[in-house]
Amino acid sequence: MDNPDNSYSQAFKQIAKTANSSLPFKRVLTSIAKSTAKALKAAGCSIMLLNAQKEYLDIVAAHGLSDLYLRKGALNAHRSLPDILEGKVVAIFDVSQDKRAQYPEAAEMERISSILGAPLLQKTEVVGEVRIYTQEPRHFSQGDKDFLAAVANMLAITLEKTELYQLLEAEHRKKITKQRNLTEAPELPASSLRPSSFGHPSEEEFARLLDFYRIEWLYEPRSFPLAWQNSKVAEMFTPDFYLPELDLYIELTTIKQSLITEKNRKLRRLKQLHPEINIKLLNKNDYLRLLAKYGYGPLGETKVQGIDRVLFSHTQIERQTKALAERISHDYVGHQLVLVGILKGVICFMADLMQHISLPLTLDFMAISYYGSNAEPAVKITKDLDTTIAGLDVLMVEDIVDTGMTLNYVLDHLRSHKPASLHVCTLLDKRVRRLVDVSLDYIGFEIPDEFVVGYGLDYHGEYRNLPFIGALNPELVQEGRGK
Ligand code: 5GP
Repeated sequence: MDNPDNSYSQAFKQIAKTANSSLPFKRVLTSIAKSTAKALKAAGCSIMLLNAQKEYLDIVAAHGLSDLYLRKGALNAHRSLPDILEGKVVAIFDVSQDKRAQYPEAAEMERISSILGAPLLQKTEVVGEVRIYTQEPRHFSQGDKDFLAAVANMLAITLEKTELYQLLEAEHRKKITKQRNLTEAPELPASSLRPSSFGHPSEEEFARLLDFYRIEWLYEPRSFPLAWQNSKVAEMFTPDFYLPELDLYIELTTIKQSLITEKNRKLRRLKQLHPEINIKLLNKNDYLRLLAKYGYGPLGETKVQGIDRVLFSHTQIERQTKALAERISHDYVGHQLVLVGILKGVICFMADLMQHISLPLTLDFMAISYYGSNAEPAVKITKDLDTTIAGLDVLMVEDIVDTGMTLNYVLDHLRSHKPASLHVCTLLDKRVRRLVDVSLDYIGFEIPDEFVVGYGLDYHGEYRNLPFIGALNPELVQEGRGK
């Protein structure tokens, strides 16, 4: 380090001592933020953690920053200093001119000119960031950068020791396993940004409903200044929720007219200042209607009747389907594919999957029916393929593989037509129930032994139109088969 008076090594000694102290975790972080800002002669310092999906940076401790600045909003990790995600130390000389700065107005009000950020690295994985802010424009020296990187390392070690980190690590591990074999249930929505309490019971109820449908949400993620007096903010507006999947801010309200009028005024002002922002003022009936509009639950009912819990939201299915389609496109490059499905359960999955496969392909469908007893079930083909598959690369697309008997039968049938290759892609794999050993090449999700409906899957012909996959209450299900 090139600091002549050795103040960096003194400061670092102090930081290491704090990190190793028995102070409560939050105090340790705040104290490190303070020492870091002081050593670097910066106006402020913040320590941020990435959420499990690596989409948002959430401030967990800070020093020298106003409440207003801290509440400016969660930072989108990809837009904000993307180099941090690659493990690099990043310097911004002029926040007002740099496209990477996400809230330049908030920075201007805080009189921030320059930012220096260093990644919190766990081995090679970025879990957060430590950032300092200066009021005077500053070209950071290599010594400044080395010092902040050293603090970041110390913070990463401290985090590893904490319960908070253990929670994060569990989520990260889950995500990594999922990326490797694509069979783990997806993580819960935006959980690391959960508030410890809500401002109003209706907000908590709304959050629970969003959780039920596994819709990602952020609580009070951003404050918007609405009015200024002598260059100071005189009025602010903080919407209750942000739903990243819908790019929608939501402000909840009761039916009390005086509150609605006031909130409507703020919303109008916000829309004048930020026409690009999508925001809705909702009371309870409105938000049930909104969920219904996006396909979540029939109008007027909080939850879909008979569904115990949602296993996979539409967004989660969409992401996994895309990932499967990308793998298929990669594996079959240079080939012409024939996708074969069995009606009717596969319709949603087939329709979405094929749109993301970037290869020339054709489609064909079969239909089957079941006969025999529960003890000795048997399958027969009621509609065969319309086209010939001899010499072609066939990918059998399935909605769900349960005992494997249906798939086994259909694969035997397809093999008799002598395709050049025959592989299987299934959205759901209920592996615990397998009776026949069939090999699956592409798997969306592995699921437990539960009867599921939605996204094409039915119960007595119903539920196919739900945009998500949910577990049906077993009491409603006597026997479950329904192509
Ligand atoms: P398998 O022959 O592998 O036991 O399952 C064949 C068919 O049973 C599936 O293609 C599907 O139509 C139906 N099935 C199995 N499990 C479920 C389930 O959890 N939900 C629904 N809706 N159908 C299922």
